[in-house]
Amino acid sequence: MIEIRPDIYQLQIPIYNNPLGHTNIYLIRDNDGYLLIDAGWDSEEALKAMQEQLAEIGTDLDHITRIIVTHVHGDHYGLVHTLKNYTDAEIIIHRREKEVLMYRYTTVYETLSDIEESWTRNGAPQNELPVPGLPARDTRRLQTPVIPDRTVEGGEILSVGNYNLQIIWTPGHAPGHICLYEKTGKMLFGGDHVLPVITPNISLLPYNGDNPLGEFMDSLRTLDILDVEIVLPAHENIYNDLHKRIEEITHHHHQRNLEIKATLEEGPKTAYQISSIITWIPESGGIRYKDLPPMHKRMAVLETLAHLKAMLVDGEVKNSTEDGIDYYEIS
Ligand SMILES: [Zn+2]
Ligand SMILES: [Zn+2]
Repeated sequence: MIEIRPDIYQLQIPIYNNPLGHTNIYLIRDNDGYLLIDAGWDSEEALKAMQEQLAEIGTDLDHITRIIVTHVHGDHYGLVHTLKNYTDAEIIIHRREKEVLMYRYTTVYETLSDIEESWTRNGAPQNELPVPGLPARDTRRLQTPVIPDRTVEGGEILSVGNYNLQIIWTPGHAPGHICLYEKTGKMLFGGDHVLPVITPNISLLPYNGDNPLGEFMDSLRTLDILDVEIVLPAHENIYNDLHKRIEEITHHHHQRNLEIKATLEEGPKTAYQISSIITWIPESGGIRYKDLPPMHKRMAVLETLAHLKAMLVDGEVKNSTEDGIDYYEIS
């Protein structure tokens, strides 16, 4: 637990079996309780970590009156389910995230045959079909999601004790991802949108919007005009230079586009072929596609597709279909 500013605390909640280690969540003292930004991964260990850190601050779960969640990924929204047993806190998320939550719960959003079909359409061989652990019906969490009490659109201001948090809608990594900006203190609660070292995964998936990477880049530009002195991210360390980080991320995506276009110089290719040529995880020295674990291979192809989609929209590439397989080429 760290006190960042008077009445603003960072708590670290462990994520099970994940190299990121933990989610940073933030607690702000309100007039009659506390507001929590994000909850963390749902596990006994996570609950214990939260209870211990709240005790260090001199409070407990019962005193949390509001929980605002940046997006519904498991490492942010998961623990809300358990927290509901200990608190009557009002749960607040963006409308688009509520839709994702309800869609995932009521619809088998991706069946094995959907995955197989998109795998084939993008030129990947059948023997690499990422069957084990795929996020289809069987491995979906079967518990009922916690239905949020209130949805926001972006632009609203939440008063919390001495602070005023402006909600900023930043779609891309998740369709209803939000950041929170505290103007007087020049603080930005960045969720997964602007992390100091890694860039968040952006995949073209049915519920992620038509052009998630394009939305992500637009969301970065939205933040770039803010006066920020301290960024409080949901993973990794607190940092100061938001504008430099936005520049780096923009550059990173631009480089990736150039790398993708370079693979198209000798003619049209499928998303799978492109993914097999470009380098993955460049921030840790780079890894070849063939050396990625099976599930990461699928994520890599979905990420390539997000880039291709953004470049299609921008007119940098064009696509065609032959024998049911999609090809991309420089336009
Ligand atoms: Zn996330
Ligand atoms: Zn996260």
